[in-house]
Amino acid sequence: MTGQTGEHERTMAFADIAFGQIKALRQEASPRNYEIWYTYATGYSPSLNQKINETLAQSGTLSDADLEQIYETYLSPTRLNDRIDKVGEQVMGEIEQVMAMVDAAVGTATSYSESLADVTQQLGQSKDREGLRSIVESLVQTAKEMEQSNQKLEARLTASKQEINVLQENLEVVRTESLTDPLTQLANRKYFDTTLERAIVDSRAKNEALTLLLTDIDHFKNFNDSFGHLTGDQVLRLVAMSLKQNVKGQDTAARYGGEEFAVVLPNTVLRSAITVADHIRRAVMTKELMKRSTGEHLGRVTISIGVATLHKGDTVQSLIERADTCLYAAKRHGRNRVICETDPEFSAGAQPQVA
Ligand code: GH3
Ligand code: MG
Ligand code: MG
Repeated sequence: MTGQTGEHERTMAFADIAFGQIKALRQEASPRNYEIWYTYATGYSPSLNQKINETLAQSGTLSDADLEQIYETYLSPTRLNDRIDKVGEQVMGEIEQVMAMVDAAVGTATSYSESLADVTQQLGQSKDREGLRSIVESLVQTAKEMEQSNQKLEARLTASKQEINVLQENLEVVRTESLTDPLTQLANRKYFDTTLERAIVDSRAKNEALTLLLTDIDHFKNFNDSFGHLTGDQVLRLVAMSLKQNVKGQDTAARYGGEEFAVVLPNTVLRSAITVADHIRRAVMTKELMKRSTGEHLGRVTISIGVATLHKGDTVQSLIERADTCLYAAKRHGRNRVICETDPEFSAGAQPQVA
């Protein structure tokens, strides 16, 4: 649904900002620096922007080393894979160390039982007090060594458990990051796809309803043209917030595409899903928008929503298509409305013809 012209204008605005920054700070116009400033302009990586703003505030410029570090930390395409690989390596390292400790402990236990067998034999042969005494001493000594080795192993295992907990948390952070849309912090398309697929399987297994909302911002191109794409992006964040605030528990709100969003509502019948959709629609339309930097009033935006519920013969694709057809029907019938598959507007030959 995203027009090619709109995308061109939107990205040109970011490109202009990126070049402007490179010029203003007299930096090398390399692809790396361009990527850094382009990402900065989009605001897709809040942590990158924060790092840049902090560095600029401190030293008034960004050195090549700063740029290199920023690129490696926030942008390098292999960054996510590297981090996953690193966690994997650390887990293997931990396992190797624990295995080495276990081997050593097994060795100690074997030599302990060997020396016990030895002592038993000596006891049988020993006749005098001195002999007995030295046997008992050596027994006490081996028992002590055994105890020390057990303590070492225990301490190592405790440390290893803690280390593995930290690694698990790291892995979780990386995983969440790879499934999150950076601009809105909602689930990204990849996460939406797997969630919907799984939700369909679950809904059939549990014999529960499953309903899908698809939503698209009304006349968003006009908004971007009037106020700029950066302000447009703030509106995307606001719509995302309205979605988040009106769904709960097992529901998944996701950024489906440019200015399109989707909500998966497990265990929710059509009627209840329409209520959720209407709450979201109202939440967006009641917000008076203001440009933070200038205080300029930007009016309001509205959204249209299509609602479809899972049928027996549905596939992921057919469910999405039905919700999309409802969404187009909502657009054709005046926008700022919710249309579901049982509404007369849906069956009235709803074909995509958005003005
Ligand atoms: P309609 O009511 O029919 O949906 O009209 P529309 O202008 O919103 O049309 P469409 O849904 O096709 O609009 C897509 C526009 O959304 C193109 C582009 O300007 C804008 N857009 C898409 N993705 C983004 C984004 O990530 N950021 C910003 N700022 N704008 C985006
Ligand atoms: Mg659209
Ligand atoms: Mg739109």
